[in-house]
Amino acid sequence: MRPSPISATVDFDADGVQHGFLKLPVSHDESAWGAVMIPITVIRNGEGPTALLTGGNHGDEYEGITALLKLANRLTAEEVRGRVIIVPMMNQPAAQAGRRTSPMDRGNLNRSFPGDPDGGPTKQIADYFTRYLVPMCDYALDLHSGGRTLDILPFAAAHRLDDLELERKSLEGAIAFGASTAIMMYELDAAALYDTVVENQGKVLVTTELGGGGTSTPASIEISERGVRNFLMFAGITEGEIQRPPRQQYVEMPDASCYVQSEHEGILEMTCALGGLVRQGEVVARIYDITRTGVDPVEYRASRDGLVLARRFPARVAMGDTIVVIGEMVDTLER
Ligand SMILES: [Zn+2]
Repeated sequence: MRPSPISATVDFDADGVQHGFLKLPVSHDESAWGAVMIPITVIRNGEGPTALLTGGNHGDEYEGITALLKLANRLTAEEVRGRVIIVPMMNQPAAQAGRRTSPMDRGNLNRSFPGDPDGGPTKQIADYFTRYLVPMCDYALDLHSGGRTLDILPFAAAHRLDDLELERKSLEGAIAFGASTAIMMYELDAAALYDTVVENQGKVLVTTELGGGGTSTPASIEISERGVRNFLMFAGITEGEIQRPPRQQYVEMPDASCYVQSEHEGILEMTCALGGLVRQGEVVARIYDITRTGVDPVEYRASRDGLVLARRFPARVAMGDTIVVIGEMVDTLER
């Protein structure tokens, strides 16, 4: 495989704080010899572990983007032992456009891994992470949220892995993040995720969902910022005491039945609240026909007992949209 076309303006081995770019060459009508400029901050102080902190994997997920922009501006080299690599907007063209996917090639970065140096810009970004940045790190934290189409209960998550020791450390990291909810997450499409690339390289991966609706709130930013700080302490890179809420709840997503998806098009009425408990068979949503009166709505029912982890955010709903995600409350996520 040929080397990545992306080059970094920062020196990953230099001590101190550097703000620079990952430069991805693109040639287009407005700029014959141009580049996509992906902001990156590297903060290093001697030997120690490396944490790779990422946001904007999807361009409309602002909680992580904002928390990482704030961290990049504030974290000093003196506070660090080892190295922190911060990329607040992994898919920069998507973030620039305020969209989940890239306007350049319609690429969804978190469905483009492991990537391809000969692919479009989104696959080229994925490939750079897979072959250059992930191998540099010991710990990776990827900050997601619902974006414009989902609202999600703030949580940090790990995945069930064949490598039990890696699973245990990743779960420890997810709990240390310090959101009120920690989850063992079931992914609908794991093969093309950033998470899978990181885990396959034997690195600790904690992923998060921190709100949604294509915005942020004081509460979601506070959880995100505290979580990032906690994660750096968990990784042994900064000093201090991990701040966890007095009570954390644990949720398992055993299989795809956690996802209730629409088989109708229309107007969505949610009848359950984000973060609320539902019983199997309970009506969680109704969908109304937008074209006429006099038609009863279609009812959607909970597929299982559990906690409402996520809901569709816009009221307009189409076939195949995820309406709610229901997780199972458990006492522990350890095996
Ligand atoms: Zn996302």
